Amino acid sequence: MNRRTLLQTLAGIPVMPAAAQQQADRATRGLPPLTIKDVKVITTNGGRRYRWVFLKIVTSEPGLYGVGTANNSYQTHAVIAALEKHLAPWLIGKDPDRIEDLWQAAHYKTYWRNGPVNNNVLAAMDMALWDIKGKRAGMPVYELLGGKARDAVPCYDHAGGKDKEQAAESVQKSLATGYRHVRVQYGAYGGGGFIPAGQGSRPENGYSGPAFDEDAYLDYVPKAFDYVRSKVGFEPKLLHDVHSHLSGINAIEFCRRMQPYQMYFIEDVLAPEQIHWYKQIRHICSVPQAVGEVFSHPYEFYPLIQDRVIDFARCRVAAIGGITAAKKLAHFCEYYGAKTAFQEGGENDPVNQLAAYHVDISSTAFGIQEENGFPESAREILPGTAEIRKGYLYGSGKPGLGIDINEALAAKNPIGNIANGGGYGTDRAMDGSVVRP
Ligand code: MG
Repeated sequence: MNRRTLLQTLAGIPVMPAAAQQQADRATRGLPPLTIKDVKVITTNGGRRYRWVFLKIVTSEPGLYGVGTANNSYQTHAVIAALEKHLAPWLIGKDPDRIEDLWQAAHYKTYWRNGPVNNNVLAAMDMALWDIKGKRAGMPVYELLGGKARDAVPCYDHAGGKDKEQAAESVQKSLATGYRHVRVQYGAYGGGGFIPAGQGSRPENGYSGPAFDEDAYLDYVPKAFDYVRSKVGFEPKLLHDVHSHLSGINAIEFCRRMQPYQMYFIEDVLAPEQIHWYKQIRHICSVPQAVGEVFSHPYEFYPLIQDRVIDFARCRVAAIGGITAAKKLAHFCEYYGAKTAFQEGGENDPVNQLAAYHVDISSTAFGIQEENGFPESAREILPGTAEIRKGYLYGSGKPGLGIDINEALAAKNPIGNIANGGGYGTDRAMDGSVVRP
């Protein structure tokens, strides 16, 4: 009998059995200390032509590790080098439990911050740390963020076609599979407004490819939505992405013309360099605005949300610094009555999709998430990839993010050479000048 149990016995306090006491002591002491033992960069094409970059953080506890993504299809090798040469040597030996502290320290250690590559690096580390914490707790990450605020995560589907007739049919197909929200782009990627290659008045010996024209866009898109609404009615929630293609005054005019079609939102009607026009749009019409796919700095969002001139913060979790950054943005949105609409897109990966999922499902400010489906080859490389059923996204329910990486399979499917250094591609106008994507 030790001194404590002796005193308890003398005082008439019931003595807890030894095993129960040990368990209670462990519960109040918390979990044993952990150290980051290894940091590995894993790249793969996902069995297709993706350029996926994952980070695996291995801890001192046997079998305990976390995974995150630094997905950036356009600066892939810069991200790989930043992870391997700058993050990994700094991170090894640190305490993986201190997510917020590590996030802040990694954020400031680059001195210049909030660039896309830096944020990808932060995101990969952050997601992997949340994955570790969830696995340690035996809970999905969303439980650590406050638990489910909804039963599943609704997504919007993508519809399109070469003309308005095909677009309407495509919307109907989406609705038939259970989606309630459908983004409609047609005529060309970016949603129309392109004068076909070789047509129209062109400079001699100049650019002859598809040329974007703002007036053509303003004319084409509203008419097509008029047709789609005539076919599908007003119950489906329709969305459209402008890809920052419009100048300020045309953005106002476009939104004014789209008002009758009761959009769920219009996305990125303006480029980040022209965000002050959103106030003018708000004065003219009440078309909901989703903004920020190419934002990387949180302060790009804050004035727009504070001034209540946008309705959805629309960015990629892996592009803004991971779950830690996304949950803070979601809280900020909640205070000001805005919502989140995390971006997915075709080149995105299953780890980022799940990172967004855990924030979405636990957040009051959630609005919608972009759909992203993955081929079977990607599901084999990344077991635990989320599933979309009837328009709703479901995580695996396993502890942590709920996903793993088969490293041997990833190695069999390497990224390979990136032709011309990669890049998003460049849209041009009739005179050959560059148009913002
Ligand atoms: Mg977009």
